[in-house]
Amino acid sequence: IKTIGVLTSGGDAPGMNAAIRAVTRTALYHGMKVMGIYRGYNGLINGDIKEMNVRSVSEIIHRGGTMLYTARCLEFKTLEGQKKAADRCRELGIDALVVIGGDGSFRGCKDMAAQGIPCIGLPGTIDNDIACSDYTIGYDTAMNTAVEMIDKLRDTTQSHDRCSVVEVMGRNAGYLALNTGIAVGALATLIPEVPFDIDRDIVQRMNDTRRTGKQHFIIIVAEGVGRAHDFAEIIEKKTGIESRATVLGHVQRGGSPTLRDRVSASQMGYHAVQLLLDGKFNRVVGTRGNDIVDFDITEALNMHKSIHTALYEMSKVISI
Ligand code: ATP
Repeated sequence: IKTIGVLTSGGDAPGMNAAIRAVTRTALYHGMKVMGIYRGYNGLINGDIKEMNVRSVSEIIHRGGTMLYTARCLEFKTLEGQKKAADRCRELGIDALVVIGGDGSFRGCKDMAAQGIPCIGLPGTIDNDIACSDYTIGYDTAMNTAVEMIDKLRDTTQSHDRCSVVEVMGRNAGYLALNTGIAVGALATLIPEVPFDIDRDIVQRMNDTRRTGKQHFIIIVAEGVGRAHDFAEIIEKKTGIESRATVLGHVQRGGSPTLRDRVSASQMGYHAVQLLLDGKFNRVVGTRGNDIVDFDITEALNMHKSIHTALYEMSKVISI
């Protein structure tokens, strides 16, 4: 492998820049050429590509977002689009790709591999919904951002004896919601992985807790279970407590990455290039505990991840 291309794809996540930096610098250190591909697979198809040097990735480790921009590319989902992308790689002498993104982006890697372009995937998403990895780039920052926002919300919720229903991101996964709920002391956290009953899990709990003297409440709902506004309306109707909905939205995707995101992204980016140097292709990098691991792309895409049920049970016990 003499030249590698690096791109970010799907939703952006804080720490992607640290990964780009690590991939670029590790590859340059080993004498490879690095091409930065802009706006995901779109850039590959359209030739929106620039050569990178060690200084191209200066001043980005502490920045959220992605210096390479990101996009969703419909054309790339077609065989014709994939062929165009592979032809572009051959035209520019790109021997392998490092793709930072989520599951959809890894499916794209598989398709590129089928077109004869070796790929390595790095898990970058705030949702933490990549099965082969305990941890994804951006997850830690997003949780910390959510906690910071909800701490502010708590002040006003408390002053008014209100209930705040806060919708946090996570797509169809509840990892972000569950951990945030624990960290902000939410009375209840609703996540897609665990069935719930509003009367039993929220109304009853609010009434019971009210009898112990508590007058304000924070309820976290993962976006995968429904809209915060709908829950707030039902809760107010059933409890008589003034309830307000807050949707944290895209602030969760931004901001300076935490130490954990910077370090993990750096380790994973470094590992991706090591794999290419070792001739190990078409793999997805991840973490298991403190270790950096990698799996065949197909195997990685077929893996399943489940919510930490003990953590969920604990969150209920300590929030009464
Ligand atoms: P996030 O979870 O942060 O949204 P993601 O990588 O899962 O990240 P997607 O929008 O699903 O986000 O995928 C990103 C891009 O990957 C798509 O726009 C498309 O170009 C490509 N892609 C997705 N699914 C496929 C597929 N089945 N085959 C080929 N390419 C795909």
